[in-house]
Amino acid sequence: MQDQNRKANWNRRDFLKGFTFGAAGVGLSATGLGYFITPAQAQDAPPTLGSFLRTNIGAFTVTIIQDGTGEFGYDILAANADADELAAVLAANNLPNTPPKSTFNVMVIDAGDRRVLLDTGNGVGAGQLIPTLGVLGLPADSITDVIISHIHPDHVGGVSQDGVVNFPNAAFHIGETEYDFLINGAENFAPLAQLIAGSTTKLQPVIDAGSLNILPDEGEWLPGITAVPAFGHTPGQLNFLIESDGDALLAIMDTANNAVVSLARTDWALAFDTIPEQAAETRRAILGRAATEQLKTFGYHFAFPGVGYIAAEGDGFRFVPINA
Ligand SMILES: [Zn+2]
Repeated sequence: MQDQNRKANWNRRDFLKGFTFGAAGVGLSATGLGYFITPAQAQDAPPTLGSFLRTNIGAFTVTIIQDGTGEFGYDILAANADADELAAVLAANNLPNTPPKSTFNVMVIDAGDRRVLLDTGNGVGAGQLIPTLGVLGLPADSITDVIISHIHPDHVGGVSQDGVVNFPNAAFHIGETEYDFLINGAENFAPLAQLIAGSTTKLQPVIDAGSLNILPDEGEWLPGITAVPAFGHTPGQLNFLIESDGDALLAIMDTANNAVVSLARTDWALAFDTIPEQAAETRRAILGRAATEQLKTFGYHFAFPGVGYIAAEGDGFRFVPINA
């Protein structure tokens, strides 16, 4: 941790809560970073612009932009699944065992006088976020805040390009445990060193500019936007509860990746889960909360626009999309 980088005023500073690095290396995905997307994979027949949905959460206007799509097989999406059990879940959902299209959904929240971006997509040349923002009247230089859920390349790829920050007027916000993963992860999770180096390249211009705020893993970061710990996918991944005027949406980011198999069997690991056992516990807990509280839920990789409700079903859950 680098205290000189802490800039925020917080009424809660519970820095060690949920801190997981004592388990460094345990359960590290054997697949390492080999499955992470490349720019070429991030888009198949890339559109000039991404699809978008504009909706409301209370008084907030929310715009969800499809940064791109990629294809990941179930050997990645349900890496530890028994073949017969996987086949049964796919058959029950009328799905062939071929790589489904995964999407990258980036959210913009217009909240009062702030325009908040929730993750930044795959980046210039790999994703469609930034040109689409411009067309929608939400240009990159109008973004006041960028929240980073975790440092995987499909989430921080758009932070900067060739050393230049893509959102020049924004304050950037990251959770303290995930920041520690950025700084110390190459040592603590050696197979991920190359991935972390890539993410560091993306974030370094923001760090150098002094505009990266390192915030507690839990609590209200911005008015109406509250960080919720969701560790395991990465050591410090965060989810976000967005609330306005009695309406709410829980952005679960990569807590669950595929809306069918990740929900049907919360114990099925994503190949990218850094600490798979913890990721599975988090998945069950977060999905359980969403189901119990009947929270509108957003998945970064759920089929566009990735918004719906979570229902309990058998030992797992089912995703019910909203009629967008
Ligand atoms: Zn992701």
